[in-house]
Amino acid sequence: MSDSKPVRRKRSGKFQAEVSQVLRLVINSLYSNKEIFLRELLSNASDALEKLRFRALTENGLMGDDERLEISISADPDAGTLTLTDSGIGMTKDELIEQLGTIAHSGSRSFLERLGETADEGDKAEIIGQFGVGFYSAFLVADSVDVISHSATSDEVWMWSSEASESWTVTPLGDEHGRGTSVVLHLKEGMDSYLNDWTLRQLVKTYSEFVQFPIMMSEPAAEEGAEPSFVRINEAQALWRRAKSDISDEDYQKFFAHLDPSAGEPLAWSHFQVEGSQQFTGLLYLPETAPTGMEFAQQQSRVKLYVKRVFIMDEVEALVPAWLRFVSGVIESDDLPLNVSRELLQDSAIVRSIKGQIEKKVLDLLSKQKTNNLEGYTKLWKGCGGVIKEGIHHSWKHREKIAALALFATTFGEELSDLDSYIERMNDDQELIYYITGESPAALAKSPHVEGLIAAGHEVLLLSDPIDEWMVDALTEFKGKKLRNASAGELKLDEDGEALRAEQNDAFSTLQERISTVLGERIGSVRVSDRLTDSAVCLVVPDGAVNAHMERLLKTHGRDVPNAKRIFEINPSHPTITNLQALAERDETPEAFGDWLELLYDQALLTEGSSIADPAAFAQRMSRLLQRATQAELS
Ligand code: ADP
Repeated sequence: MSDSKPVRRKRSGKFQAEVSQVLRLVINSLYSNKEIFLRELLSNASDALEKLRFRALTENGLMGDDERLEISISADPDAGTLTLTDSGIGMTKDELIEQLGTIAHSGSRSFLERLGETADEGDKAEIIGQFGVGFYSAFLVADSVDVISHSATSDEVWMWSSEASESWTVTPLGDEHGRGTSVVLHLKEGMDSYLNDWTLRQLVKTYSEFVQFPIMMSEPAAEEGAEPSFVRINEAQALWRRAKSDISDEDYQKFFAHLDPSAGEPLAWSHFQVEGSQQFTGLLYLPETAPTGMEFAQQQSRVKLYVKRVFIMDEVEALVPAWLRFVSGVIESDDLPLNVSRELLQDSAIVRSIKGQIEKKVLDLLSKQKTNNLEGYTKLWKGCGGVIKEGIHHSWKHREKIAALALFATTFGEELSDLDSYIERMNDDQELIYYITGESPAALAKSPHVEGLIAAGHEVLLLSDPIDEWMVDALTEFKGKKLRNASAGELKLDEDGEALRAEQNDAFSTLQERISTVLGERIGSVRVSDRLTDSAVCLVVPDGAVNAHMERLLKTHGRDVPNAKRIFEINPSHPTITNLQALAERDETPEAFGDWLELLYDQALLTEGSSIADPAAFAQRMSRLLQRATQAELS
């Protein structure tokens, strides 16, 4: 008994709660888009074939004597079943249970989180469409699904079955299944069209033309009783290896959709061959809209690496700089070893050189789009600009080139503008590129900090992307012009301003003393402003200190920020300020004087987008002031 095989028993189990949830959501949200099941299952089959091909490079004997790597589709109208078979890596019993019954992959988890945040049914369907829904899409068209699998690492065949309810079973089968997996769909009523030869071919053409492995379908047998013969129905040739002259725009667009079915239209692509010490082929795409998940820094790259026609890996961090993580495509090199590991890629001089070339190619592509197709480029910029700007920080070498690609809101007009056009519009006497950072361009354009600049005829960049604070940290100048924060330090807009301000500081010294006493520790100092024209007051940071917006950003990220004492600036030509100075000079100031100074301080906080410390006290002061004002009108 001891040397006989253990008895293989049927097992059943329940789906992990999250799986049931995904299943339900997929079925409910995608009922009008059922046909994607074929794309999803073919994509799984193709992944399984790629895994086998890759592992067979290092694991002797994994391929066995069956070197065929292909997928076949067959329909049985009598039984009402559609079967997809691949000769890929297959799944062991444990893998069937683990991979089909639980959510082992991070994609599904973040998918569920995203869905949880969305209430609208239409939006839900969209999100589900954006994520690959994978295997569970089989239940869009099938009541029950059998997955028969023979793993390349085992000699057992197991069948996993489920009726999309709460549970599944796994059953041992004989050895009648070759290496790989068959997914048998017992089609729902009314799904007969998926048994139709022509429909299936159309679907493969639409969704899966670029699957790298032959997809086979049976030709109707020539004579009654004869075995049908299988023919390949997709081209299965790597698009990037074909001559450019043989590839139409439509082919390129379709391939982009194949790489990421959720990505929409490509904005542009570059298909190139690099000769020289390192030879490689590349096909890189710019998307028109931001791809899903791009905001996550851990999403490193959408470029797939092939070596000698074998898919090696995707998300190759070493190959594409993180600030280009919206770029998708394929790189194929024949110079890398086939069994290259992620660690090896990290250290490889070849990979570093390829990365450099990719960076240049994409910069060129972006710059061409910006020049020749500004409308399309602006779309891309609105979705991916935040990520591109990371490059100003991280790609020191290309800092200025990347900055030249950036589009910003400005006080000049409605359209976004680049830095070159800003410089062209600069006044003869303007030496600096002015900017201000904050939550929204509209609010920034009305900020007291920029009024003086606008009055002097200077344009101000309105930077409202959180990344901008880090960008201006790295980009201190552009084409010889220094960047200058409009909300920090003194602006020194006029030549003889200094002497004038010394005079004014004298003239307003009594008021300044009163302000210092009332506001105390809350401010660093008081001075007459050189930047205000319409507003009475504002708060500025000393040059180089953490500004108010940065402070708010750091706080929302839970970071402790040293409160930099700010400078309270007063406008010497504002009636409120001149009145207050006159009152301050009297022997006795009105009782409400302190209240008014507090109100001015709160006003300065509100106009810069900060919150006020004590809204209730603010409301009471405001109410007392209104009472006085209305009373004054009556008497
Ligand atoms: P995803 O493909 O996004 O990982 P799926 O739900 O489509 O999610 O599939 C879950 C897992 O099941 C896959 O990651 C893979 O490990 C396994 N799997 C699915 N189909 C096959 C197949 N035809 N051959 C081998 N493994 C498969």
